[in-house]
Amino acid sequence: MKHSVSHLIIGAGVAGESAAQAIRSVDADASIAMLGDEAHPPYDRPPLSKALWKDGREDDIWRPIGKAHIDLQLGRRALRIDRAARLVQDNAGDSWEYEQLLLATGGRPRQLSFGDDFIYYRRYADYQHLRQRVRPGARIAVIGGGFIGSEVAAAMALNGCRTSLLFPGPAICSRVFPAALAAAVTAAYRERDVDVRSGITVTGARSDAGGSELLLSDGSRLRVDAVVAGLGIEPNVQLAQEAGLQLDLGGIVVDDQLRTNDAAIHAAGDVATFPAPALSRRLRVEHEDAALQMGRHAGLCMAGQDAPYRQLPFFYADLFDLGYEAVGIVDSRLQAIEQWVTPYREGVVYYLDSGRVRGVLLWNTWGQVDAARALIAEPGPFDAGSVRGRLPVKA
Ligand code: NAP
Repeated sequence: MKHSVSHLIIGAGVAGESAAQAIRSVDADASIAMLGDEAHPPYDRPPLSKALWKDGREDDIWRPIGKAHIDLQLGRRALRIDRAARLVQDNAGDSWEYEQLLLATGGRPRQLSFGDDFIYYRRYADYQHLRQRVRPGARIAVIGGGFIGSEVAAAMALNGCRTSLLFPGPAICSRVFPAALAAAVTAAYRERDVDVRSGITVTGARSDAGGSELLLSDGSRLRVDAVVAGLGIEPNVQLAQEAGLQLDLGGIVVDDQLRTNDAAIHAAGDVATFPAPALSRRLRVEHEDAALQMGRHAGLCMAGQDAPYRQLPFFYADLFDLGYEAVGIVDSRLQAIEQWVTPYREGVVYYLDSGRVRGVLLWNTWGQVDAARALIAEPGPFDAGSVRGRLPVKA
């Protein structure tokens, strides 16, 4: 069957949903269709590794897609884009003619070559799968010491599981936090009885009905009831690549209107590589705030508005009783200037590069996100002496 719409969105995640709402907000007559390959309508992803393991409710994760009055096609995968004909083919044999197309295809979890029964944690279905395995005393191995691994390991421990956290780096979130902070976070996990094993890779696995035995790079074995992995994602750029769209940094290159090198195609969320003049570089950002904001800006632009995207990356997490917000580029390879009220419990870390503040980590320090954004916009030059103390933290 052939459909014809003014706006077609590929991807039913947060970026796609946010774009649909934005288009509808300025164009009551737009015909909007959305293809999503999951069985579920759009939902918030952060609760899957945060609130749903504490006091959050599953009923609260769903995005209000109904308000946008769109043709939502679930369980549909776009197979190819014919840019000349402005036509998308899907896996149900339908074709979709569009005037404006948004690629909000997100990413898929990186996987190991073994462990078919591991839960590569990203989707609501993964949450449901893990939920079935979690009970007090269950032995859970979490592979990966980044965002997913740190949050899921804390969630498992809070739910009474005997939790092991395995990763190749020296400490939890060591690509983000400066070394001493990452070491303190790692110690805090151990105090919570998480069996943290740094410098470890999983080299193989044997699985049976009762769980898995993991083979570890130090020669040891670990028997568990379930394995969860957070090894990063691969952006879903295949459609764009096959359609000849420009790629960079693993994503689809867009301008500040989130338009690709085809004026009828925009991209947003995890797959978009966008200019960030305040940081003097292009970026691809895999956090929810970017998906929400980019989706909204892309939708406005697709509906004919001038809505340049100039947001800095923003993300947050809660790791047991430690919480943080982060703005800009928070990367431990930059020069990190630390300002602690109480070491590793409350303070600010500034990330400097070439005399500019490129990122700020607000550690149990609240209400400073806008001030951090303003500091990143300042031309500087800054050094350790002049930046320390720029953002107030409670004495
Ligand atoms: P991630 O933060 O990039 O962490 C990946 C982790 O996997 C790293 O510890 C990495 O170690 C490790 N790793 C990579 N290959 C491995 C292997 N073969 N064996 C063992 N460990 C391996 O990615 P993620 O945690 O999977 O998160 C996925 C995406 O969701 C990210 O884009 C993230 O931004 C997003 N997310 C964000 C939040 C938040 O904003 N709070 C929360 C959850 C998820 P090395 O570092 O040593 O390579």
